[in-house]
Amino acid sequence: MTLSVTIVGAGVAGLTAACALAHRGAQVRVLERAGALREVGAGLQISPNAARVIEALGLWSRFEAISLPSERVELRDMGGGLVAGLDLARFRPNDRFRLVHRARLVEMLETSAREAGVKIELGHDIREIPEDSDLVVGADGVKSRIRPLLNGFEAPFFTGQTAWRTLIRDESPSDHAAQIFMGPGRHVVSYRLAGGMRNIVAVMERPDWHDEGWSHPGDPNELRSNFSRFGGPVPDWLSRVEEVGLWGLFRHPVAEHWYRADGTGPAVVLIGDAAHPTLPFMAQGAVMAIEDAWVLAACLESQPDLTTALAHFENLRRPRCRRIVQAANGNARNYHLRGPARAVAHGGLRVLSRLAPGHLIERFAWIYDYDPTTAA
Ligand SMILES: Cc1cc2nc3c(=O)[nH]c(=O)nc-3n(C[C@H](O)[C@H](O)[C@H](O)COP(=O)(O)OP(=O)(O)OC[C@H]3O[C@@H](n4cnc5c(N)ncnc54)[C@H](O)[C@@H]3O)c2cc1C
Repeated sequence: MTLSVTIVGAGVAGLTAACALAHRGAQVRVLERAGALREVGAGLQISPNAARVIEALGLWSRFEAISLPSERVELRDMGGGLVAGLDLARFRPNDRFRLVHRARLVEMLETSAREAGVKIELGHDIREIPEDSDLVVGADGVKSRIRPLLNGFEAPFFTGQTAWRTLIRDESPSDHAAQIFMGPGRHVVSYRLAGGMRNIVAVMERPDWHDEGWSHPGDPNELRSNFSRFGGPVPDWLSRVEEVGLWGLFRHPVAEHWYRADGTGPAVVLIGDAAHPTLPFMAQGAVMAIEDAWVLAACLESQPDLTTALAHFENLRRPRCRRIVQAANGNARNYHLRGPARAVAHGGLRVLSRLAPGHLIERFAWIYDYDPTTAA
């Protein structure tokens, strides 16, 4: 591939695309607004659909070293009682579900991109399309500056949900479960990460959130008081929180137009959150970004005509991302049920989990069985 490509944004989407394109011979530079690739974010659950890309990039052993396996997902009520267990190790033994800190994943991708000859330039706040490449990839996240150039300006809307994210030390013997504690209007997700850390995300409906900010330092006491009715291990975990970040969860609809290739300048394409920001409740935002990156590179390699390649990319990706975003919206409702609806749903899940324990996972087989490395 002889393309010269400029990628805007050095997040998971941009750096994965940089690796995939550079491995195919493209000349790639990444322009990132931040002055340093800092410790942004917290834990990520990475499912097998993205693991296939990490392996195809030749990064599996490095990824294993920075992540932990995820063997089970446990849905629990707010008191800590088990509602349903998704036994990943038992029902999908050949699949790789992993848990990783976002910063470790970004570091790994950055190192690999540089090794492949990618130039990463920090401190560039891009407001217009850089004109000196064949292709510009907008991987600049939910507040993308590239997206409005293809779709017109639309302010991201507040989803009614806020999330506290924090890490605590946790040296307890290995426990490879992601646990979700579901209460009315709120839930807590937690799992261990490599390096003796535990990731905690506490999500709460906040229709009254007026602050336009995206991410703030939060108050650990406010976190504790909003989740004081939760039981099981949650009170102990929250008692150990010293610092916490608070995010308003904003999003856009999945973009109508993912690319432009009209000959008036470089071709432009969107990937990752810039194209399809999602609520985090299917744990697929970074995963979709990784899928996009590989499929884009594969489309560009298999189809020499840029317009045809980008149209093919959009056709492959838009329906799938839309469906995943809808599934995440559905989980937001299901996790936060109140009153009788909650009792009925939890009762149904308990029975299903006992009688047909594999079924709960297989409902999402369409997500996990997808292989981006053969999709294009
Ligand atoms: C609470 C929570 C939990 C989550 N859990 C999971 C999970 O378990 N699994 C999962 O797969 N996903 C999860 N996600 C989603 C995931 O974090 C995002 O979907 C993913 O990081 C998107 O990657 P991206 O590269 O598209 O965007 P980003 O990570 O936002 O990266 C965009 C990059 O572009 C840069 N940039 C922005 N504007 C400009 C500009 N003008 N010029 C230059 N650079 C610019 C930014 O600085 C940034 O580095 C979670 C999200 C949240 C909020």
